[in-house]
Amino acid sequence: MVPKSKIDAILDGYDPEEITIATLCSHSSLQIFHGARKLGFKTLGLTITHSTKYYDAFPLGKPDEIIKYKDFDDMESRVDELYDRNVIIIPHGSFVEYMGSERFGDYPVPSYGNREVLNWESSREKQREWIEGAGVSMPEIITDPKSIDRPVMVKYNGAKGGKGYFIAMDYNGFKLAVDPDESYNIQEYCMGTRYYMHFFYDPLKHDGYKCAEGGSLELMSMDRRDESNIDELYKLGNIDDLKKVGMYPSFVVTGNTPVVLRESLLPKAFDMAERVVDKSYELFGGMWGPFCLETVVNDKLQFKAFEISTRIVAGTNPFISGSPYADLIYPGMSTGARMAMHIKEAAKEGKLKEIVS
Ligand code: ATP
Repeated sequence: MVPKSKIDAILDGYDPEEITIATLCSHSSLQIFHGARKLGFKTLGLTITHSTKYYDAFPLGKPDEIIKYKDFDDMESRVDELYDRNVIIIPHGSFVEYMGSERFGDYPVPSYGNREVLNWESSREKQREWIEGAGVSMPEIITDPKSIDRPVMVKYNGAKGGKGYFIAMDYNGFKLAVDPDESYNIQEYCMGTRYYMHFFYDPLKHDGYKCAEGGSLELMSMDRRDESNIDELYKLGNIDDLKKVGMYPSFVVTGNTPVVLRESLLPKAFDMAERVVDKSYELFGGMWGPFCLETVVNDKLQFKAFEISTRIVAGTNPFISGSPYADLIYPGMSTGARMAMHIKEAAKEGKLKEIVS
């Protein structure tokens, strides 16, 4: 992982009034560029294989400039061009996933957020140690497939975006579907409704909902993912009948829908997020900026968190002009703009090194 001292030295060479916000052209980049522009930043798109023509359709979300690289090696060898532009990169899920979390950790360009979080997010075991250690409930793990006694979700290690997951009802179902060449993790299938909650922790702000370190915890928005084909499968009837014709449930994210949580559940939601933030300071020096708790609420109104994403999630994209929650804090503000605001204020106060790593 690139040493913090190296990033600090790069920041020393930056003009804090001339910062450019850059990200990989995908995922939530329209929102990130739109938010950065609103706050007066120059914007830069980084791309390898992704087409960028779609930006022409959205002038307010189009970056001022685009650099096209041959591959990630090329991107790594051309960091000077980014230093010249005083670039701070905003990591998003696809940026870290396409580059690989280890490689992203080593990429020596100032990055918004704490890189240390990568070690805790990228391994399912470490993620569990953190979240359960914070006192937040997660789906139970089933270590022996023979003991499957309820619906379970089998997740292959390394699978992403819900691709390659499957549901089994018992050991037989597991045996029929499992790929023996892959390593996997079996967890209880949490029955209930899903809420993907987009929080933001600002350690430089000291009012609002406070965490142990004294910073402020905000809820920016909430979504539910559209997942193909599981969301529509019920229209064809019984899952077992479908299996006979070779149709299996899959969980591939194809889009996002805005949701709000029953108001009486908000205290529980904040309590979980607060615990996770507090624990992050105890374990690895903190998590700040946007993060998402991916949860299921059952009919007893109990939460289980099946995953945490520690940066902007694409589920914030429906909220480019605000949300029912953001509007009660910063009317009309997106998570993309909130990050830009964080960077702008930190730059003004000479505190960039506190939020960039
Ligand atoms: P990403 O990194 O994009 O969040 P992922 O590959 O890590 O995705 P998960 O978010 O863990 O995948 O799961 C994909 C989907 O599978 C979830 O959005 C949810 O619909 C479903 N899911 C995951 N775990 C469970 C569970 N324990 N019980 C019920 N559904 C689950």
